[in-house]
Amino acid sequence: MLLGVAQDGGAPQPGCHCAHCEAIRAGAAPRQHVVSLGLVDWATRQSWLIDATPDFPAQYDELTTHAPMAGILLTHAHMGHYPGLLYLGAEAMNAQGMPVYATPRMLAFLRAHAPWSDLIIDDHLRPIEMQPGCEHALTPDLNITPISVPHRDEYSDTVAWLVHGAARTLFYCPDIDHWNAFTPDLKSWLADVDIALVDGSFFSPHELPDRDIAQIPHPLVQDTARLLTGVDTEVVFVHLNHTNPLWRLGSERAWLQARGFRVGVFGERWRLD
Ligand SMILES: [Zn+2]
Ligand SMILES: [Zn+2]
Ligand SMILES: [Zn+2]
Repeated sequence: MLLGVAQDGGAPQPGCHCAHCEAIRAGAAPRQHVVSLGLVDWATRQSWLIDATPDFPAQYDELTTHAPMAGILLTHAHMGHYPGLLYLGAEAMNAQGMPVYATPRMLAFLRAHAPWSDLIIDDHLRPIEMQPGCEHALTPDLNITPISVPHRDEYSDTVAWLVHGAARTLFYCPDIDHWNAFTPDLKSWLADVDIALVDGSFFSPHELPDRDIAQIPHPLVQDTARLLTGVDTEVVFVHLNHTNPLWRLGSERAWLQARGFRVGVFGERWRLD
């Protein structure tokens, strides 16, 4: 279940007066949560959240209407992807031993810095080390595998997650710097993947006139769409920056849809059985 579609800053973004942010404030477009994916195993009635975003309270509520939360999977230590962990602490949920699945480097970052370290010391969070490339069974019908991806790894490394259901596989990759260092190459990698939710931060390089886009590298949607022309996988773009023209109907969205791809929608679901 897709529980958010926006890049780390959400939409509207504080202090931004771009057309999209102002349209949201005017009520002409919906507010957008930061990207997050919920997993539900209907047989065991358990759920997991991938990414603990600043929108964690609403995303937790949405997910747990279906099944109680049994754990959180983390991708990396950027502001859109882990601060929601704070809601599990004593000031809010006071969770007891909530499993948190992450790489050794991500967990080392949490253990080394307050306030995250207190969440572990006080057993609100129970860290579970996941080695990139190693599959782990959450339930008999639900397996997860962290996949290393190149990203600006200032505080932690970064992973995407492969989610294997009884019959189908989903790839969740909200953040990556570029596909050319992703091995094997993306197109052959997706041959074994049924659904791919991939980094759609920017449609074109012209979206941030005041920022050096070289400092915030992401594959452009245009380039990823060209790279993936002809794949059988259902490709859905997520992690859209507030500036992205794909938020609204227009020539960019038509261009993408003509290639068989689309933008994610809050609340949409895929079956993996
Ligand atoms: Zn991000
Ligand atoms: Zn904006
Ligand atoms: Zn990031």
